Amino acid sequence: MSWKDDYAHRMMNTFGVPKIELVRGEGSAVFDSDGKRYLDFLAGIAVNSLGHNHPAVVAALTSQANLLHISNFFASEPQLALAERLLRITGAGDEGRVFFANSGTEAIEAAIKLARRTGRPRILSLKDSFHGRSFGALSITGKPALRDPFEPLLPNVEHIDSTIEALTAAIGPDVAALVVEPIKGEAGVRELPAGYLEAARELTTQHGTLLILDEIQTGAGRTGNWFAFQESGIVPDAITLAKGIGGGVPIGALVTFGAASTLLQPGQHGTTFGGNPLVCAVSNAVLAQIESAGLVANAAKRGAEIRAALSGLDSPLISELRGRGLLIGIGLAQPVAAQIVQSALEHGLIINAPDASTIRLAPPLIVGDNEIAEFIETFSTVLNEATTPAPSEAS
Ligand SMILES: *Cc1c(COP(=O)(O)O)cnc(C)c1O
Repeated sequence: MSWKDDYAHRMMNTFGVPKIELVRGEGSAVFDSDGKRYLDFLAGIAVNSLGHNHPAVVAALTSQANLLHISNFFASEPQLALAERLLRITGAGDEGRVFFANSGTEAIEAAIKLARRTGRPRILSLKDSFHGRSFGALSITGKPALRDPFEPLLPNVEHIDSTIEALTAAIGPDVAALVVEPIKGEAGVRELPAGYLEAARELTTQHGTLLILDEIQTGAGRTGNWFAFQESGIVPDAITLAKGIGGGVPIGALVTFGAASTLLQPGQHGTTFGGNPLVCAVSNAVLAQIESAGLVANAAKRGAEIRAALSGLDSPLISELRGRGLLIGIGLAQPVAAQIVQSALEHGLIINAPDASTIRLAPPLIVGDNEIAEFIETFSTVLNEATTPAPSEAS
């Protein structure tokens, strides 16, 4: 029996059988069970901020091994240190508060419960958005294909167009919260219209509505700011975090700003694992390393270099470059993203396709000259093979 047979017979069929089995990683590369090396330009979907086997992560993991988990009956230094760091880098500061969870979808659940505490019934989110797979998060996700098999979901949720006009028309005094991704990652790395966050802040303030930003994919330095919303200069009421803040350990967090920090009262939310010492120690080490090594600036700089190199390829298949920093959407002129991803994998490059005409890049924030050169060389080979017509028999 091969591992593929084992997978098909043991794993619930929600993801399909993967093409390769990975055994270890080092820096920006991973290795499969046949010993083949892959350049990892997906980083576990924007999770492995420091790549694989980073000494800062290894040190945090090993030094915290004597106190992995304690329950939320007790405090721990790693948890308080991580909360302090998150309040600082988000700008939430002294008035802000943190709730720790174990995943993105759980951070969103906490945000939905926060919204409910306003006493208002309605929640607005965007068409085509992605906020997770648990029932609350799925309810506000704007992808009918994901929602439909699980209806009925939460009532009073409306998915609106990503325009200031649609928000203006939908918002009112009965809206608890507007939840938006600053860049819609799973929708193909799509930016909001210019001025959207500023207008959303103004409208939500006018109506006493919470502005909740889902920074699960865009946070932790990936877009060239600590958090994508910081580019706009606005202050949200809450943000959700996960993925890149953990560097590979499962973590989620809801960070509130100002008055929203007191909406959830004692006993109204909880978790067994959330905020445990192991995960907090690793996350704190990851964020400390991003800070000390200047990786937020590196994300901006390397993102610009990758964009310039992609433009330089002058490929007829590339129609558009989207996103910011090291969250990059390559818009394709034809719906061949799945074939490109498969061909890249065969050439030792890991990327993915959030939709049929988009390639997503989310490399570790540590990428430098060598990784970018290798990526461009492999990706240009893949694009050339995709655009060169197969030899025809008629000629
Ligand atoms: C991945 C993601 C989620 C869900 O996070 P999980 O950890 O998979 O539950 C929610 N929102 C956004 C924007 C994401 O990218």
